[in-house]
Amino acid sequence: MKKSELDLIKETEIFKNCKNIVYGRGNLKSDILFVGEAPGKNEDEQGLPFVGASGKNLDKMLNEVGLSMEEIYITNILKCRPPKNRNPSVEEIKMHTPYLVKQIKKIKPKVVCTLGNYATKFFLSGGELDKMKKIKGITELHGEALVMDFFGLKITLIPLFHPAAIIYNRKLLPLWQEDMKTIKKICL
Ligand code: URA
Repeated sequence: MKKSELDLIKETEIFKNCKNIVYGRGNLKSDILFVGEAPGKNEDEQGLPFVGASGKNLDKMLNEVGLSMEEIYITNILKCRPPKNRNPSVEEIKMHTPYLVKQIKKIKPKVVCTLGNYATKFFLSGGELDKMKKIKGITELHGEALVMDFFGLKITLIPLFHPAAIIYNRKLLPLWQEDMKTIKKICL
């Protein structure tokens, strides 16, 4: 029998060590999907994405441009917390993203905002992981909207800085605010 997308997640070590699988939150009927990296400690405990410090910052920054959780859906590349919040491994991305692709096919978003390097590179590589390394970083790509085909679905991809990066580096805040103007133009 063919393994399901959930079976693949359950085969990874990070599943064995996590408290909850973090699928997503928000409005499944929304046209706007945000994709982060992986759950942190709070997300693992509550089973919901972006509920810790970076989530609070994201909520605040989205509210400032008039976007609320009712208007978006938010999820991550990885559905389980990597120990000590280390970076996702290629193997984990390979095993967890079939579930993400399934979510995208169901939600059919018009706009996908990727938060940080991993999510951005995953989309720009068209899900081909060996191509991820060759893709430019978020510092160069942020705020540039790109219409693309993602597994047969036409989406507008907008790479954004990760909200955690903005907490640590306040110099990124004006750049994020500038990128939000693009989001407003396209989504609102
Ligand atoms: N950072 C992420 O990328 N995702 C979360 O859910 C929380 C923090």
